[in-house]
Amino acid sequence: MIYSDFHGLKLSRLGFGCMRFLMKDGEIDQDIVNEMIDLAIEKGVNYFDTAYPYLEGKSEIALAEALKKYPRDSYYLADKFPGHSLPGPVDNIALFNVSLKKCNTDYFDFYLLHNITEWSVKIYESEEYHIIDDIWKMKQEGKIRHFGFSFHGGPDLLEDFLNRHEGMFEFVQIQCNYLDWTLQDAKRKYDIITKHGLGVWIMEPCRGGKLAVLSEENSKKLKVFDENASDASYAFRFVQGLDNVRVILSGMNEVFQVKDNLNTFEAYKPLSDKEKDTLFEIAESLKKGVPCTGCRYCCQGCPMGLNIPYLLECYNDMKYTSTLTPSIRLDGLDEDKKPSACIGCGQCAHACPQHIDVPTVLAELSDMYQSGPKWSEAVKSRHDAIRSDLDMK
Ligand code: SF4
Ligand code: SF4
Repeated sequence: MIYSDFHGLKLSRLGFGCMRFLMKDGEIDQDIVNEMIDLAIEKGVNYFDTAYPYLEGKSEIALAEALKKYPRDSYYLADKFPGHSLPGPVDNIALFNVSLKKCNTDYFDFYLLHNITEWSVKIYESEEYHIIDDIWKMKQEGKIRHFGFSFHGGPDLLEDFLNRHEGMFEFVQIQCNYLDWTLQDAKRKYDIITKHGLGVWIMEPCRGGKLAVLSEENSKKLKVFDENASDASYAFRFVQGLDNVRVILSGMNEVFQVKDNLNTFEAYKPLSDKEKDTLFEIAESLKKGVPCTGCRYCCQGCPMGLNIPYLLECYNDMKYTSTLTPSIRLDGLDEDKKPSACIGCGQCAHACPQHIDVPTVLAELSDMYQSGPKWSEAVKSRHDAIRSDLDMK
């Protein structure tokens, strides 16, 4: 197992993500979880990551069950506060204590504010919710050893958020892989976190499994280098090569995946320049959006004052795959800054050196946003779960 140093801790570079355990009749298949976790621990994995909402609140419990036979100080446990899923202001400390109880522990080695975006940041920082102050108290009381946050917003928000809370956080978990390196500007986020002297944690190194099973055509391009290496191993080796990455989370749900990942993390094998070029070539072939470089030439003349590159980031993300993340980022904008506010004057298209037909793209984005999945719908069942856990009427 490859290990990383983090403030004197020896963390397995492969972190076990517990958001994808297999469900059987609405319950987690505990036998498979136990088998996977036993195997991971035997081969040196010592970092386990869960979150309050994962698998309808059942991930924390299943993980605790699988870990109960191991001494508490033999592994690192990470959990997250669901500020993005609250039904309204709640007793944050009581909710934190629910997670401690479900995880059968009295402290978390790592604790994160879950899913900071342009929308959720308003809740996390609101005085009415006072989340950050409350969770900070848990840190001061020693119930949290290391404090961080997971992040799905854009680089500008990341920079601003870190500046506003300088000295509070020790690590940031971002979505990063060879596709999102450019598609979600993960490179810039990685550089910002590193500049602030914090550790980088990686989630979605295989983009929800999409980079683990490539098309036949793309897979063939990698088989040229090694007939036996899996597509996933290249995605992991890409993020392993980033110096400031301490933990790479993989949401494993089958024993064969655990074995393949353990194999990839047994020793570090840097990518050759040719392998890296091939991965970026594959990334380009997967993109379906527009080639916006973020130069902002288009913004100066926009009569509606729209943040066009931000909107195009959301468009590109939505075009790649239908996830809630770009939709939540659009939720974070005022109505007069959403794509529907574009009046189609065309000034931006004239200014764009990439010849992007911005008004047409924004009209399409507006349609996709309005007809696509909505966070407010997805989160309803979580509201009920939180009310029930806190015994709220
Ligand atoms: S077409 Fe839309 S985005 Fe472009 S300048 Fe006009 S209002 Fe702004
Ligand atoms: S001018 Fe074109 S490339 Fe530059 S930010 Fe605007 S849309 Fe993107």
